[in-house]
Amino acid sequence: MSLSTSSNVTNVPLRSICVFCGSSAGVEPDYLSASLALADCIAQSERSLVYGGADIGLMGAVADRVLAGDGKVIGVIPKSLVDVEIAHPGLTELHVTDGMHERKAKMAECCDAFIALPGGLGTLEELFEVLTWAQLGYHQKPIGLLNVNGFYDSLLAFLDHSAAQGFMKLAHRDLLHVASDPNTLIERLVSAKPLTAAKL
Ligand code: AMP
Repeated sequence: MSLSTSSNVTNVPLRSICVFCGSSAGVEPDYLSASLALADCIAQSERSLVYGGADIGLMGAVADRVLAGDGKVIGVIPKSLVDVEIAHPGLTELHVTDGMHERKAKMAECCDAFIALPGGLGTLEELFEVLTWAQLGYHQKPIGLLNVNGFYDSLLAFLDHSAAQGFMKLAHRDLLHVASDPNTLIERLVSAKPLTAAKL
C-alpha cells in the first residue's frame, strides 16, 4: 500500500509515524496528556499516524487528536478485535486484517518510523518485534520510546543490564531512541543513523 500525501508535505522527513500504545489510558493523567502532545506534533508537522485502529484507551485518544488537527490516520486492526477493541469509525483509512501478524506487518509497511507510548503487553510485544526486526536488519526505520514520567525507566535499566551481561550489542541497545518530550523524540528519530552492524 502506498500512502498518498499532499504535495506540501513531500519533503517532511518520516512522513508517517506508527504509534504503539495502551488499549487502556493508565492511572496517571500524564500518560494521556503526553499522548495527546505527541498526536499534536504529528498533526502539526503534517505527518500521518499509523496505529492499531482501536477506539479505546490511549490508542483512541491519539487517533481522535490527530483527526481533530486535520491529520491523516491509518488504522490496522484484526477482524477478531473489531468488536473487542472497538474499531474506530472515523479514520481516514481502516484496514481489517485476518490476524495479528498481518496487522503488525501492515502497520510496519505503512510507516517510516515507530514510537511507543506507555502501554501493556500488546505495546511491549509490538515494540520488541520492531526492535528485533531492526536488529536483524529486516528494516531500517527508526524506533523511539516516549518515556512519560519515567514509565519505562525499569525496562531501560533491564536492557542496559542485558547488554552489560553480554546478551545484546550496545549498537542494538541503541536502536531504541528515548526522550520524555515528543518534539525531541521526533527530532532524534529524524536524525537517527541506520544500523550498520546487523546481527546476521
Ligand atoms: P496493550 O498495550 O496490551 O493495551 O495493547 C495495545 C495494542 O497492542 C492492542 O491493540 C493489542 O491488540 C495489540 N497487540 C499487538 N500484539 C499483541 C499481542 N501479541 N498480544 C496482545 N496484544 C497485542
